[in-house]
Amino acid sequence: MKCKFCEWQKHYKKIYENAHAVAVWGSPYVRGHVKVILKRHADNLTELSHEEANSIMDAWLKVGKAIEKVIHPSIINWQINCNWTRHVHGHIYPRWQADPDWGEPIRLPTHEQERNKDYFVKELSPDDKRRIEDLLFHHA
Ligand SMILES: [Zn+2]
Repeated sequence: MKCKFCEWQKHYKKIYENAHAVAVWGSPYVRGHVKVILKRHADNLTELSHEEANSIMDAWLKVGKAIEKVIHPSIINWQINCNWTRHVHGHIYPRWQADPDWGEPIRLPTHEQERNKDYFVKELSPDDKRRIEDLLFHHA
């Protein structure tokens, strides 16, 4: 079976890349969601070299700063996952105090909710995405 994260170019739009990690736009259900993906397979954070861990942190910081500058979230939630993807990856979840789920963990729709369109899409406007991408491309 092909790995979706190895073939990230087919599935996601790259917004930042360094030696060991790539940052891509994430779920349309969380405004400004970004995934930072380790390029190679590693099932656990403890398998990473310091250089690889630094690549993930570098991408997190650069993308997080661009997001703050453009869309001014109240705070950003950071999450590192090691799961079915076989690629250690970090999430950036911008959060706003005005959102109804403020103070609660991020909730993504189940596959059924997604199929039934029960969940509101909260994607960034194309303009905001472009402004964030411009900051990253010009300072990478
Ligand atoms: Zn893979």
